[in-house]
Amino acid sequence: MVTRPRILVVGAGFAGVACVRRLERKLSPGEADITLVTPSAYQLYLPLLPQVASGVLTPQSIAVSLRRSEKYRTRIIPGGAIGVDLKAKVCVIRTITDKIVDESYDYIVLAPGSVTRTFDIPGLTDHAFGMKTLAEAAYIRDHVITQLDLADASDDPAERASRLQFVVVGGGYAGTETAACLQRLTHSAVKRYPRLDPSLIKWHLIDIAPKLMPELGDKLGRSAQEILGRRGIEISLGVSIEKAGPEEVTFTDGRVVPTRTLIWTAGVVASPLIGTLGAETVRGRLAVDAKMNLPGHDGVFALGDAAAVPDRAKGDENAICPPTAQHAMRQGKRVADNVIATLRNQPQRPYVHKDLGLVVDLGGKDAVSKPLGIELRGVPAQIVARGYHWSALRTNVAKTRVLTNWTLNAIAGDDFVRTGFQARRPAKLKDFEHTNRYMTPEQVRAHLARTDSPEQ
Ligand SMILES: Cc1cc2nc3c(=O)[nH]c(=O)nc-3n(C[C@H](O)[C@H](O)[C@H](O)COP(=O)(O)OP(=O)(O)OC[C@H]3O[C@@H](n4cnc5c(N)ncnc54)[C@H](O)[C@@H]3O)c2cc1C
Repeated sequence: MVTRPRILVVGAGFAGVACVRRLERKLSPGEADITLVTPSAYQLYLPLLPQVASGVLTPQSIAVSLRRSEKYRTRIIPGGAIGVDLKAKVCVIRTITDKIVDESYDYIVLAPGSVTRTFDIPGLTDHAFGMKTLAEAAYIRDHVITQLDLADASDDPAERASRLQFVVVGGGYAGTETAACLQRLTHSAVKRYPRLDPSLIKWHLIDIAPKLMPELGDKLGRSAQEILGRRGIEISLGVSIEKAGPEEVTFTDGRVVPTRTLIWTAGVVASPLIGTLGAETVRGRLAVDAKMNLPGHDGVFALGDAAAVPDRAKGDENAICPPTAQHAMRQGKRVADNVIATLRNQPQRPYVHKDLGLVVDLGGKDAVSKPLGIELRGVPAQIVARGYHWSALRTNVAKTRVLTNWTLNAIAGDDFVRTGFQARRPAKLKDFEHTNRYMTPEQVRAHLARTDSPEQ
């Protein structure tokens, strides 16, 4: 029997999918077997998630098919890696039906991305929503419309006030876009609720940092702040959450805001899978070299949000790439090339990419962007923002869906329909990201020893 080298890719996000597609394209079917472990059947285009939450895009339009590819031949295991024995070269996987399977590999590419970073704030994981998964975005949309429906039906002024205030924590691009897009949703929707006083609707955007989106620079950060301020979003900087409850949130400056909607987007940390490896980390991300190899472990690569990849383009040897899709996608291609180089006994190459800048879509004609260091605002910034995301969508079908959604939304607006299909499911931070499913290195070893033992 001919045994081909087995390449196992963990995670089907920007990094994992870019890697798999490149491997499929460059390796002949006889050269290696490619397997992908992923809990979902799509690659999520995360930067457009706030537009799903606000109803500009349908959820399906940013869930890009994994199986639509010209050279598609990867075996997909629907599940999540919960532990890896780097010595034995075995990955332990929990499938979507909760079955535990052990997958042996010769090369492993770790690209499980990140999860929402939380802090030990009383009530946070029980009462806050995240903005990291498709289900969360769809859920938040329904939840916000539900608040309008219930406030409209209520004659209790206190209930109305708490249902019509919304708090977003995190002044990075994810939080800023989320607050901006959802404020547009409630601003437009309230016209269909003649009983509701629009002035009761209040959005808060808070961050412990002194500036919004510092990576945009002072001028653009201020522009974004002005745009949001003009729309009535109250921005509080240098402020965080002291505690969260079901009907109110306490800020660290002492304010108590009655609200049923707390959206937490205060940064990300590497997937818990990284902590199970017992390897060195840099701020929680797996420490790899510039070729994205895990030092001391042949055939182990890591990249994307989960790894601390040196940022060679910065000229500072301690700099690591920020957790962005821009880097993850390009690192995926480079890792594929390095895996292939190893297979073919050729030299690997380091990852070097100069950041192309940032685009921030604030909804409608509002945007700020800094492509290649050029500062743009308004319609030109919006054209660049949407053009960038559109061209980065991987399949033509996804591009067509997104373009059609944008056009339809611009012409006909939103119907603000509350679908309710997720209404009875748990949906807070603790429920969606399944961060408690992982094994410790000792559990992985004990599990593999058990499955190897003859009595089994
Ligand atoms: C709201 C929002 C807006 C953003 N906007 C921008 C932007 O404008 N520009 C930009 O460059 N970046 C943006 N980002 C950041 C960007 O999305 C991430 O940096 C990028 O997705 C990282 O790619 P990745 O492949 O490392 O991880 P991901 O794309 O998150 O993919 C990780 C994949 O691994 C899977 N997975 C997780 N755990 C496991 C496991 N144990 N086993 C198997 N599979 C697993 C996940 O299901 C997922 O499919 C945004 C992020 C958010 C949340």
